Amino acid sequence: MKKFIYLFNEGNSDMREVLGGKGANLAEMTNIGLPVPYGFTISTEACNHYYESGKNISGIVEQQILAALNTLEEKTGKRLGDIEHPLLVSVRSGSVFSMPGMMDTVLNLGMNDKTVQAVAKLTNNERFAYDSYRRFIQMFSNVVLGLDIFYFEQLLDEFREKKGYKADPELTADDWKEVIERYKLIVKRQARMEFPQNPQEQLFLAIRAVFDSWNNNRAIVYRRIHKIPDHLGTAVNVQSMVFGNMGDDSGTGVAFTRNPSTGEHQLYGEYLINAQGEDVVAGIRTPEPIHVLEKDMPNVYKKLVATCQLLEQHYKDMQDIEFTVERGELFILQTRNGKRTAQAAIRIAVDLVKEGIIDKETALLRVDPEQLDQLLHWRIDHMFKREPLTKGLPASPGAATGVVVFDADEAEKLGKEGSKVILVRPETTPDDIHGIVASQAIVTSRGGMTSHAAVVARGMGKACICGCEKLNIDVKNKRFTVGDTVVNYGETITIDGSTGEIMLGEIPMIEPKLSEEFKELLSWADEVRDLGVRANADNPTDAQKAFEFGAGGIGLCRTEHMFMDPQRVPIVQKMILAETFEERKTALKELLPMQQGDFEGIFEEMQGLPVTIRLLDPPMHEFLPDKEELLVEVTRLQLTEKGSPELEEKELLLKKVQQLAEVNPMLGHRGCRLGVVFPEIYEMQVRAIFYAAANVLKRGTAVKPEIMIPLVGHINELQRMRRLVVETAQQVMREAEVEFDYLVGTMIEVPRAALTADQIAEQADFFSFGTNDLTQTTFGFSRDDAEGKFLQTYIEQKLLPDNPFAVLDRDGVGKLIETGVKLGRSTKSNLKTGICGEHGGEKSAIEFCYMTGLDYVSCSPYRVPLARLAAALATIRHGKKKVEISSR
Ligand code: ADP
Ligand code: MG
Ligand code: MG
Repeated sequence: MKKFIYLFNEGNSDMREVLGGKGANLAEMTNIGLPVPYGFTISTEACNHYYESGKNISGIVEQQILAALNTLEEKTGKRLGDIEHPLLVSVRSGSVFSMPGMMDTVLNLGMNDKTVQAVAKLTNNERFAYDSYRRFIQMFSNVVLGLDIFYFEQLLDEFREKKGYKADPELTADDWKEVIERYKLIVKRQARMEFPQNPQEQLFLAIRAVFDSWNNNRAIVYRRIHKIPDHLGTAVNVQSMVFGNMGDDSGTGVAFTRNPSTGEHQLYGEYLINAQGEDVVAGIRTPEPIHVLEKDMPNVYKKLVATCQLLEQHYKDMQDIEFTVERGELFILQTRNGKRTAQAAIRIAVDLVKEGIIDKETALLRVDPEQLDQLLHWRIDHMFKREPLTKGLPASPGAATGVVVFDADEAEKLGKEGSKVILVRPETTPDDIHGIVASQAIVTSRGGMTSHAAVVARGMGKACICGCEKLNIDVKNKRFTVGDTVVNYGETITIDGSTGEIMLGEIPMIEPKLSEEFKELLSWADEVRDLGVRANADNPTDAQKAFEFGAGGIGLCRTEHMFMDPQRVPIVQKMILAETFEERKTALKELLPMQQGDFEGIFEEMQGLPVTIRLLDPPMHEFLPDKEELLVEVTRLQLTEKGSPELEEKELLLKKVQQLAEVNPMLGHRGCRLGVVFPEIYEMQVRAIFYAAANVLKRGTAVKPEIMIPLVGHINELQRMRRLVVETAQQVMREAEVEFDYLVGTMIEVPRAALTADQIAEQADFFSFGTNDLTQTTFGFSRDDAEGKFLQTYIEQKLLPDNPFAVLDRDGVGKLIETGVKLGRSTKSNLKTGICGEHGGEKSAIEFCYMTGLDYVSCSPYRVPLARLAAALATIRHGKKKVEISSR
């Protein structure tokens, strides 16, 4: 005969699937000898059986419930409905995963007009008995019969008012009797039935209600969101009652074995004297902190402390415990692994290793890499009480304070003068980039989590709030309003990109720092991981952060920002406008020392770790003024300043802009195609890199430059560019009279490169998968257009599971990566491989990279710590690689 019911002494914590989380732990605690009120669990299989048999509880399930009830009655010496020694129970739902939406617990089941008298007599406390009975009617009617709690609360309010009472404790036994009669009338009127007096009927109605709650709307939606399968079913726990509301020697509370917000090893929690069940969380009375219990009931406190220790040792993790004290006796009603902040998660994991309770790998598995993100940004002091003005999407974590500005040029100007600014825009475009760079944070009233502002801000580790629709931005008059509040240009606000909140004025903040525990945990991750972690950094400041956060090198240093500096733009434009090779050379000569300085700074910061530098990638027109604006300007000058040199200059510029304009810039004249047509540009960059390398080397710091050629699709492109790099290197070494090692490799970002990787590897020392462009070129859509126009529809209508720019598309883009690695290594077994798209900082993509055999991932400096952990977790979950890897 199939077993559907388990007494508490028949189960254990490994049986979550059958007993649900709550039931499994109640059984486990019973078996290790803790004072758990006795009871039994109706299994999740019984729930499925209930649905299979057309919502019936009959046959063997019913028989087994009655048999278990019998055992419970024998053990306790009480019987359900007995008029001398009545058994009272709680009925508690509990599925495998804790799920909001399931039926709330019913306490005091078994109460009726007769048993209430017995309880009064036994406890010698009539008031307690009738108070318990009315609580039961209220809960049962609400939870099982589905009546609105409002009817009962309203009646109680009126009753108190009529009697002139302020709070429930003032009600006498006779008062409660009167309330109970009226409660029954509510049930009769609203549910069209008498309140059930038969305790067995009460029990089966409650069990049925728990099963039914598995398929209520809330539960179904929750399961869909969290991908919990529908067939799991819920268990039901029937447990004999203990009472925390029997007087001042009784109480109920919750305790955490460690502080869930800091992780400190100290008992943490709250309790209420003379209270039952949910009173602690209900917020009607303010609970006392747990240490007060030490004074109130020293013996109970001692026992609670010992129990907490035992449970922690047993479960090897921080526990969240529910307890009740009945007339000086402690009972444990629930335990589970406690929820905790990122800070606490780290501290607890590290402490448990030091206390010898878990090993290092287990400690690593206890911390979710995504959670670490909160710790790596400036954040608002949690002691500060916030009063947010409004809220948008938490698009990029971190907090920032600054004065409000409404346009990118303004942001740049004020930023240069040393002001901290927050750029507030309806939305941002690539034209605003200089303003974003100069700002502490970005706020937009439109756009989602993958809008331009959000993506750019995350990449730069800047706080960002998007889609803040309550924000009425008046760019022209330089102000925004939220309701009646007006915030003008130059006023100070503080934003929290982790919550999406915007606040007025300045607010105290905490700097992101790796705590000692955090560093220790990451050092364990480094011992374990078989996957290198590098950072994407374009300047010495970012490189410094990357080094501090433990990056093993720079995986992508983009050089275009080096051209964008306002002081350099005129020279860059001169270079682009050059009519002759000589003119271009002259302009490039001016740029060279500037870029060389940047590279020297980066090499110094990285102290001999490898630095992958990508040569110029964007199309030239990105460095020229906007075509429309220029057209307006020229037209104006033609009317007013005919024949002036300024007009001539502008006309020339316009001609060039028109020449360079592209129908489809993403697929246009960019990447190595620039290097092929204008080799002198690449040559200048390579020269700057190698001069910098030579200088730094001479100053005594090791350097490992890795030159990366972007957008290669054909072996001939790389061959040509490689020759240029090698020849330049030889010249520099001769001139500078030093020798240094360097690598030449390519970004794999168009499908053809991945598909012909065996050929390309002949000319490459390394591959770096540029998954942003590779995703664009694989799907054949440009990111800005996709995210702005149709991608959302695709995701909503489930044509795509996720935004492929946020979550790596393993089936398509991933297959190209696999192919690229396999073909590349077939030509060159020691080919170094990495990934440098935004995906490099996302834990599932990191796992994929490890499984695909890449040597390293590269991500924004701020994500390096979490990438180190994610790399370790991938190694633990998928086992160590057999081959030695070439980079850490
Ligand atoms: P939840 O999952 O919402 O915490 P629980 O089933 O744990 O629901 O119960 C709600 C409250 O009732 C908790 O405070 C719990 O400790 C208390 N409780 C549950 N069963 C009993 C019982 N048999 N005796 C006393 N209190 C109980
Ligand atoms: Mg609970
Ligand atoms: Mg690219």
